[in-house]
Amino acid sequence: MMRPALDPSAPAGGKDGTAGGKDEPADAVPGRGPRPAEVPELAPGEVFAALDTSPRGLSAARARDLLERYGPNELPRARRRPVWRQLAAQFTDLFAVVLIVASGITFLAYGLQEPRDVGTLQLAVAILGVVLLNAGIGFAQEYSAERTAQALEAMVPHTCRVLRDGERLEVSTRDLVPGDVVVLEAGDAVPADCRVVEAHELSVNNAPLTGESNAVGRTADPVAAGAPLDARNCVFMGTDAVAGSGRAVVHATGAETEFGRIYRLAEAAPRQKTPLQIQVASMARRVAGAALAIGAVVFAVRLPTGQSVVTSFVFALGVMVAMVPEGLPATLSVSLAIGVRRMARRHALIKQLLAVEALGSTTVVCTDKTGTLTQAEMTVTQVWAGGPPHPVDGVGYAPSGEVADATPVRELLRVAGLCCNARLLPPGSPGGPERSRGPEGRERWRVLGDTTEGALLVVVAKAGMDLGAEEEAAPRVTEFPFDSDRKLMTTVHRTGAGYQACVKGAPGELVGRCTGVEWEGRRGPLTGEDRAAVAAAGDALAAQGLRVLAVARRELDSARPAQGEAESGLTLLGLVGMLDPPRPEVTDAVAACRRAGIRIVMVTGDHPLTGEAVARRVGIVRRPDPVVVTGARLDAMNDEALDALLAEPSELLLCRVSPEHKMRVVTAFQRRGEVVAVTGDGANDAPALKHADIGVAMGASGTDVAREAAAMVLLDDSFASIATAVRLGRAVYQNIRKFLVYLFSHNIGELVPILAATFAGFPLVPISAVQILAIDLGSDVLPALALGAEPPEPDVMDRPPRSRRERLFSAAVVGRILFLGGIQAVCVSAVFFWHIGSSGIPFDEFTKDTPVYREAITMVQAGIVLSQFFNALAVRTDRQSILKAGILSNPALLAAGGFGVALMVAISYAPPLQAVFHTAPLDAVDWAVLAGLGTLPLLADEARKAWLRRADPKGVPR
Ligand code: ATP
Repeated sequence: MMRPALDPSAPAGGKDGTAGGKDEPADAVPGRGPRPAEVPELAPGEVFAALDTSPRGLSAARARDLLERYGPNELPRARRRPVWRQLAAQFTDLFAVVLIVASGITFLAYGLQEPRDVGTLQLAVAILGVVLLNAGIGFAQEYSAERTAQALEAMVPHTCRVLRDGERLEVSTRDLVPGDVVVLEAGDAVPADCRVVEAHELSVNNAPLTGESNAVGRTADPVAAGAPLDARNCVFMGTDAVAGSGRAVVHATGAETEFGRIYRLAEAAPRQKTPLQIQVASMARRVAGAALAIGAVVFAVRLPTGQSVVTSFVFALGVMVAMVPEGLPATLSVSLAIGVRRMARRHALIKQLLAVEALGSTTVVCTDKTGTLTQAEMTVTQVWAGGPPHPVDGVGYAPSGEVADATPVRELLRVAGLCCNARLLPPGSPGGPERSRGPEGRERWRVLGDTTEGALLVVVAKAGMDLGAEEEAAPRVTEFPFDSDRKLMTTVHRTGAGYQACVKGAPGELVGRCTGVEWEGRRGPLTGEDRAAVAAAGDALAAQGLRVLAVARRELDSARPAQGEAESGLTLLGLVGMLDPPRPEVTDAVAACRRAGIRIVMVTGDHPLTGEAVARRVGIVRRPDPVVVTGARLDAMNDEALDALLAEPSELLLCRVSPEHKMRVVTAFQRRGEVVAVTGDGANDAPALKHADIGVAMGASGTDVAREAAAMVLLDDSFASIATAVRLGRAVYQNIRKFLVYLFSHNIGELVPILAATFAGFPLVPISAVQILAIDLGSDVLPALALGAEPPEPDVMDRPPRSRRERLFSAAVVGRILFLGGIQAVCVSAVFFWHIGSSGIPFDEFTKDTPVYREAITMVQAGIVLSQFFNALAVRTDRQSILKAGILSNPALLAAGGFGVALMVAISYAPPLQAVFHTAPLDAVDWAVLAGLGTLPLLADEARKAWLRRADPKGVPR
């Protein structure tokens, strides 16, 4: 990315980019005093002073004042494409160009005609009307899609953690002001430009600003001034923290950030088309090409029959208009938009339209455990320190309950509690995550930060200990943050006697680093027997579905030991087991996915026994022999072995795995041709989320980085929402196929009579272009939209996933178009020639004003409209009888069809419309005959479906 030259004298922080109020001294205001260029040179203590804040952060009142002064921390909205350009773009697609040219030629033809036929003029105007109407619909669509995208974006929370009045709070990033002290952890988006004042292995990805995508380490130490982006002790808005943790003081917000300065989105990025839209567009192009070709043939056939060039041209034009599916592009985008809106209502936000289609063909879901299958509400239920387990009572984060016989485990709990960054929030306290209410609607205790740590804080309180006092006695000096590859976290504290490392983590990772034990009264070296006892106790806890953490400690001489030193030679204190109950709605969702032929693979960092116990509870595992593969085993496998493992149709659990393993498994599934949805919440899940066919991020608990990388965000984090999204995704695809069949089949009904007349030597068209336009844009658009909005069929999840290779216009779809359209075409052609023939008038005596001709073309139009009414009912189901689906079950469709028929009645009887369409009033017998013929496509399709059901009772609709 090109970076414009920065103006070193420009002030930071001011909302309007000026140096602030003229009457204020430059250094009195946070973010205004030292310019960014000077901030890096200050020591952390001086930074607080210079920015008029403190390690406790700003006070709430001051933050409010500053917010008023500087305005919200947001970038100016991207300049939208001017309305005239958006509108003009609607006239440049192939459809529009073909129709504009056609209209122009028709105007010309009218000018050349001798005598002039007002019908030709009407046609020219009507085609132009179609172009304008389509452009209007396209424009409205684009506008509403943009609005929807903005609304959806607003639904994803953008919050950050800050210190205010010494308390850790979660606030909206909009409310951040210069002087705020921000707490950063791996996976957080950096919310503003900040100077780092505390860093624990903190590194950031500055790619959005510098284009270099390597993680770069950050320090709190002063560095020499230079280019702002080179300062290793600053972090910048628009970048992400990718590892470690730290604290930083905001020195510039909103437009004054480096990101704000280079923010030059003059035009919104072009919206990507999905494969589906591309398929439809290419089909439409082919149809338009075919229309031109057939139009040319008709013109060539008619010309030698002695008709004028203009009449022949108008005739050929009718063919073209009959073939072009005018309402299609608009119907398609409306239908996709409806799908996206429905999913959003069911907690699944689609960020990329592509996901709507991919969801329908998903064959594998790789899902996390915590939060997705479970409630992410951890409660420590057992503590083990070498003797019998100590049960803990009480549920949730309320610190009410007791640890049975707490004295022998107090040291273990003290160390575990000191090694936590989370905070408990009592009911009613401000800040913190949503979902603060229990099922009964009462406010509850909540956790700010990691829920595993929240559970530890609760058990410390239940043991009657005062963690605040312990922290005062042993203040933290450094930290090696948790990461899901290492599965450990360490904090170093200053004690009276020196320094102490407090370590907690997965037993498999931690016990190997221990050399001694201190539990239930015994202190000494860690023996082989002890190891066996720890393993047995850990397995016993895990087999109950509990997440297990080991806790250890060691004494140190220095405040800043190397990580390897702090995390080795440890003294093991014991284990804690915490329960995270499954979400009640997940069991049904898992069963639905099974029926739908979707394989669910649980991917967890937890112990295999914990994973298996939870998987069994929600129904992912039902057989006695699931295949449980650990990260270590995956590492030992080459790609062939992994492919062979995935090829087995077994129930598969991946436990003790890291995000890299997840990525590898996703890639391996894709190699097998599977369509993979994968969930993720952490920063290092981003590659797997991007690589998967559908990356699914957590809206409530996930990191900003994961949400950025995903195609879909679950607002409630629940697996059940994935299953719902799959169901709705399948419905969208089915609905699109329904209206494609509906729209294309009547094109055949319009085209065939015209071709038949051409080759039979009848001098006039059986249906005029203006009539065709009245059908395509008058009576057919609303039913097509109603088909696009059909709710999912009840059995949509009882079918296997659609094959990824399946084309939208599959042989079955084309076959059905020909079948339904063919019946319609035969009926209306028969009606036309029967009416013309029974009059006894020779073909060449017919003129446009012959009453019989006017009646006949009215009958053709009415015949198509009536048969489309029944056709709409036929295409609603693939195999099921419409009687079973319920004729009345889509009232919108019936109303839309009714409107089409009413419009046709008006065209037949209302004199002004008769004049435009050249139609005549039909009598009751005509209507009855047409209605009877109109039911034929429906009846024939019912017979076809009945035959299909008998021939292949379990068959898959295609
Ligand atoms: P899930 O699939 O359940 O969402 P995960 O893949 O997110 O799990 P991690 O959070 O990486 O799992 O945790 C893996 C292991 O690391 C846990 O079983 C636990 O033993 C340990 N662990 C989890 N959180 C912490 C923490 N904050 N501090 C230390 N150890 C932790």
